[in-house]
Amino acid sequence: MKKSDMSEEAESSMETTELKKIHSSTDSAQRSGYLKWDEYFMALCFVSAQRSKDPNTQVGACIVNQDKRIVGMGYNGMPDGCSDTKFPWTMGDTAETDKHLYVCHAELNAIANKIQADIRNCTLFVTRFPCHECAKLIVQSGIKEVNFYESETTHLTSKDEEATYKMFVHANISAK
Ligand SMILES: [Zn+2]
Repeated sequence: MKKSDMSEEAESSMETTELKKIHSSTDSAQRSGYLKWDEYFMALCFVSAQRSKDPNTQVGACIVNQDKRIVGMGYNGMPDGCSDTKFPWTMGDTAETDKHLYVCHAELNAIANKIQADIRNCTLFVTRFPCHECAKLIVQSGIKEVNFYESETTHLTSKDEEATYKMFVHANISAK
């Protein structure tokens, strides 16, 4: 049947069908395989970790608010003004050789660098499980969810790991 032979009604119903086809083809044109939100924030943590000067450990962290906006980022590094070339990156027994006395962890830096006054109910993404000192900061800043990438905790003593979990449980922080 030629289009000119159609009734007006039939013609309009055909147009509706065509329009539906166009819309459904637009919907299905969305790219698949894009990063999910959680994957996106964790990927940014790994990029951030690459800024670290620590020869053994590179950690990145990112704080995300309830609108999925990034409100803080950090990686492990020396405090401001403490030169990366003058302070130790080694694990010795003295103030001259022990990096642990100085290095600010990624979580601490993400919280210190926050661009939103109140980060209560935010989510923290971090490349590895937080130590008990960072756990205290996380609790005190009101963060309510912690997503860590590596569940490996060999960087912590079992006492340290237990303390972090204990604080998270009591402060109602979901950690996964
Ligand atoms: Zn820490």
